[in-house]
Amino acid sequence: MSQRQRMGQPMIILGEDSQRVKDRDAQSYNIQAARAVAESVRSTLGPKGMDKMLVSSMGDVTVTNDGVTILQEMDIDNPTAEMIIEVAETQEDEAGDGTTTAVAVAGELLKNAEDLLEQDIHPSAIIKGFHMASEQAREEVDDIAERVDTDDEALLRKVAETSMTGKGAELNKEVLGKLIVDAVRAVTVEGPDGENVVDLDFINIETQTGRAAGESELLEGAAIDKDPAHPDMPSDVEDAKVLLVNEPVEIEETDADASLSLDSPDQLQSFLDQEEEQLKKKVQQIVDTGANVVFCQKGIDDLAQHYLAKEGILAVRRAKKSDLKFLKEVLGARVVSDLDSAKESDLGHGSVTRDEADELFYVEGAGDDTHGVTLLLRGSTDHVVDELERGITDALDVVAATVSDGRVVAGGGAIEVEVARRLRSYADSVEGREQLAVEAFADSLELIPRILAENAGLDSIDTLVDLRAAHEDGQKRAGLNVFSGEVEDTFEAGVVEPAHAKEQALSSATEAANLVLKIDDIIAAGDLSTAGGDDEGGAPGGAPGGMGGMGGMGGMM
Ligand code: ADP
Ligand code: MG
Repeated sequence: MSQRQRMGQPMIILGEDSQRVKDRDAQSYNIQAARAVAESVRSTLGPKGMDKMLVSSMGDVTVTNDGVTILQEMDIDNPTAEMIIEVAETQEDEAGDGTTTAVAVAGELLKNAEDLLEQDIHPSAIIKGFHMASEQAREEVDDIAERVDTDDEALLRKVAETSMTGKGAELNKEVLGKLIVDAVRAVTVEGPDGENVVDLDFINIETQTGRAAGESELLEGAAIDKDPAHPDMPSDVEDAKVLLVNEPVEIEETDADASLSLDSPDQLQSFLDQEEEQLKKKVQQIVDTGANVVFCQKGIDDLAQHYLAKEGILAVRRAKKSDLKFLKEVLGARVVSDLDSAKESDLGHGSVTRDEADELFYVEGAGDDTHGVTLLLRGSTDHVVDELERGITDALDVVAATVSDGRVVAGGGAIEVEVARRLRSYADSVEGREQLAVEAFADSLELIPRILAENAGLDSIDTLVDLRAAHEDGQKRAGLNVFSGEVEDTFEAGVVEPAHAKEQALSSATEAANLVLKIDDIIAAGDLSTAGGDDEGGAPGGAPGGMGGMGGMGGMM
């Protein structure tokens, strides 16, 4: 760049259609968008939280109470809002539960940050204060957390039940809680240092509609929702030698463009013979391995099905990729991708049993190298089992976290109020404006008991006053039990959560809030206002704080 260019007019580097919002306007814009996301899940928090019905553009309906599912299914097209959704996703990946909590706290942090910005406190002081508070809060959670016996089945069931409360799974929480704890224990092994290692990949969830959720079961091995490829095949194989293959047992396609010109009936016959030979060869390769059961991820040609049936082999075609992966663990088998190289040592051993009523195969492994259990979830309709499954996966995660980590805290807002109390005294030791941010952080945590009360139809201010008093009084486990409506020892009442999920929720919420606060300049290639719609909160001119895709959901917030 030449000297002359640099000294001239400010250089215009943005396209004509692009839009730019700066400083406080940018912050307000972003904060409004982030808060709108947080508002949208708020009413689902806790046992008395309500569900949402989401209808996709294809008309598919999802009824759920699960924070991350709601945010993912909502058609949101605002970039800031998407950053908040990532919080929920991180929380889901890292902890499996607590997504609504993380998003709600992130929204509240930003709301309180906005007040500080209005008092002319620089964003970098807020960011620093939030960061300090979050670190301190994690330490406090660890200090407050109780170390429990990871073999304590009753406690683990409470953890599972707390996670399921308010979800579709709740009505059957005793039955399901036991299944979940049994499942996690079935896949727990001792690590090198004597610690518990839980591998949730060894738990498969299979859903079945038609029966009551209370009839759900835990099975050794796998349940495969498939039929035999051919009616003449055996349906039960006691001493099963199972081949898993992800190559089609079909005629290999000739080049799509190649056309075949046949001049005589003889030629046609020889062509067909050739095809038949090819199929026979593939079936023979299977027979040669010694397999009497085949799970194929791809198709199996009709003729090959017939030959396999004649050989007395049970074959299943178009098995799900995930089922094959799981069967591999259950049977200690290998997945073969080329029949030419299939051999006996690729086979897995066990038994295959047909459940005619449910149209399932139960596959159990034999031998030492087998892992895996299946949670067979039942429910009357698709919507019921889908929501059941979401609740169950959360519960599996929290029980697994408790088994491997051994630290739990009292729920119902108890942990949040205690951490807030401790943060306020920590704030006294913090110099400068960061102190205000630490205090704002403490206030933000108290949002959780406030919403729990609100969603239960209780007075949130009274509840918070009672909670604070109890904690001042040294009752660390005082929380709101929404069923009794009382402030009490929620740990005793069975509302128990893993400490790990709480720590993660604090970190993810803080990171998201800080990410938003750091932005002081929004440069959009298109028109920012097209993403607008909802002007609530007085977002600055030209940059409404609305969220495009959420316009139609105004009633929810
Ligand atoms: P998240 O997506 O954050 O997990 P949930 O809707 O699952 O949201 O609600 C979790 C919150 O509900 C936690 O703060 C937990 O302590 C609280 N909770 C669970 N059971 C009870 C109960 N019986 N009384 C009060 N709060 C409860
Ligand atoms: Mg939850």
